[in-house]
Amino acid sequence: MSSTLLSRRDLRFLLHEWLDVCRLTERPRYAEHSRETFDDVLDLAERLAVEHFAPHNRAADTSEPTVSGGRVRMIPQVKAALDVFARTGLLAAGMDESVGGMQLPHVVSAAAFGFLQAANVGTSAYPFLTLGNANLLLAHGSAEQVDTYVRPMVQGRFFGTMCLSEPQAGSSLADITTRAEPQDDGTYRLFGTKMWISGGDHELAENIVHLVLARIPGGPPGVKGISLFVVPKILVGTDGALGARNDVTLVGLNHKMGYRGTTNTLLNFGEGVHRPDGRPGAVGHLVGPAHQGLAQMFHMMNEARIGVGAGATALGYTGYLKSLAYARQRPQGRPVGDKDPTAPQVPIVAHPDVRRMLLAQKSYVEGALALVLYCGRLLDEERTAPEATDRERAHLLLDMLTPIAKSWPSQWCLAANDLAIQVHGGYGYTRDYDVEQHWRDNRLNPIHEGTHGIQALDLLGRKATMDGGAGLELLLETIRATVGRAWKADGEAAELAARLGAAVDRIAATTRRLWGTGDPALALANASVYLEAVGHVVVAWMWLEQLLVADTAPPDADPDFYAGKRQAARYFFRYELPRTTAQFDLLDSLDSTTLDMQENWF
Ligand SMILES: Cc1cc2nc3c(=O)[nH]c(=O)nc-3n(C[C@H](O)[C@H](O)[C@H](O)COP(=O)(O)OP(=O)(O)OC[C@H]3O[C@@H](n4cnc5c(N)ncnc54)[C@H](O)[C@@H]3O)c2cc1C
Repeated sequence: MSSTLLSRRDLRFLLHEWLDVCRLTERPRYAEHSRETFDDVLDLAERLAVEHFAPHNRAADTSEPTVSGGRVRMIPQVKAALDVFARTGLLAAGMDESVGGMQLPHVVSAAAFGFLQAANVGTSAYPFLTLGNANLLLAHGSAEQVDTYVRPMVQGRFFGTMCLSEPQAGSSLADITTRAEPQDDGTYRLFGTKMWISGGDHELAENIVHLVLARIPGGPPGVKGISLFVVPKILVGTDGALGARNDVTLVGLNHKMGYRGTTNTLLNFGEGVHRPDGRPGAVGHLVGPAHQGLAQMFHMMNEARIGVGAGATALGYTGYLKSLAYARQRPQGRPVGDKDPTAPQVPIVAHPDVRRMLLAQKSYVEGALALVLYCGRLLDEERTAPEATDRERAHLLLDMLTPIAKSWPSQWCLAANDLAIQVHGGYGYTRDYDVEQHWRDNRLNPIHEGTHGIQALDLLGRKATMDGGAGLELLLETIRATVGRAWKADGEAAELAARLGAAVDRIAATTRRLWGTGDPALALANASVYLEAVGHVVVAWMWLEQLLVADTAPPDADPDFYAGKRQAARYFFRYELPRTTAQFDLLDSLDSTTLDMQENWF
């Protein structure tokens, strides 16, 4: 099957020729797998995406969910697609066999899920949220919570949500106020309002399992007093039977720019509309120890944030493939220098400026896909590498790369969607082509799961300095290892390696310079510029890695594919990497323009 969702050829290159994922099958956890099972999962995901997710992508956007009589209504194709998805067992692809999972490497399931995200990001959000919820309970919940909530989620009977944000507390979760009052029977009653909750209400499943951050009265202020609770929409008995409605009420739906197929809700907990055992208060069960809620959430944050980067990549990727197909068939104009008005027009792909827009997209989306799959491979290393030192190394490197893997695709694959619209000309500005919806859908990604600005503070303020700078040192050392290999390869690779090596030195020097001020406000004032510069260097590294693989391909093997890889690598090094020079210069000058700007000067 060949679709315009993701390129199977590129996935083969990244997964097998570069990341050598079949080596993972030598480890006990993945011993049941083989190249065939990996390919089968990708085939299944692509077919599911093409046949069941893509066909209603537009309809779910134009006919967004509504509420009437207190019930959420949406087009029936969403449930039909999710029912088929549930039957495939893909939700549990990466989970342990003991809970019904396939123990598939994370890197392969991330690639497979990319097809669903590219086809219909709104519908695929429901299983993604459920997966994040289930993984959190598997990591921190009790055996009883796993039996009661995770197993039905794996079977597709229950869906999950993540309830962190409140109207007054988004980036600053330290300021949440939802409270959880302990009860004599060991349960809690929750009271408060949660804002922006994706998948917070619908009738797609038998039940909705909310994971809610709340405060137990008397606990410490700030993040140290936040606990995690599992709060079902419908109470579940010890025998697994559904009981009374819990006191969780849908206040309303948010009307979004994109991602419209996913309900986004304002929920009240403990409003008293439903009264379990005759009393107001949403019944909740503490997950793990009290006051560890945010730490538990952060445990899963790497995966969730890389998932956001992967979703952004998928939307950028499909936009790129669609604009490429359009550019190949849209005749317009003649080559520069062709003065004959009767000569046939050429397809717009023949014009260098259109090729520039396609090359830019290719360099962004294939660079981003390489980055998110590299991070997926690190997740597998972190979990299954035989040596403890390798597991620790993978953990540290992943920690360092996470804000970049979340933010870079969210920024640059959105830019790719913008270029995909431009390639379509006026047609791209209409709703007759998919690319405008991809842009609107993708516009969410720099906002949720920690905004761009919050990721920047995380990278420069926390990750670059953690363990005395050990994470940054490891990242730079890992990039320098690629630079070393490229030096030895000689030729063009060595030339690009010299440029990448210089950029890596600038990251080290700039980080020292910023923190050398001893003034965190000044150091962090331009954190977003730092995030963007380091992100570009990291993606240049991804391109040098890909160039090295392309250079070792047999000369007669798929020459156009490898030539395309080399050209995209060249593009990134010539057009994109140089942007970082100006960014590092600005950072090194300790510019305080934004810091000095006064509110009343606006
Ligand atoms: C469609 C959608 C789906 C969502 N789904 C969920 C969900 O399922 N569950 C959930 O819990 N939440 C969800 N969210 C909430 C999302 O995570 C928050 O919107 C996000 O964290 C930002 O919070 P906020 O909207 O309150 O913005 P604010 O925190 O008010 O931020 C506004 C601006 O100020 C900047 N800013 C804030 N603080 C700082 C700072 N200290 N330093 C520098 N800049 C700062 C931000 O970067 C941003 O640009 C969703 C949001 C949307 C839009």
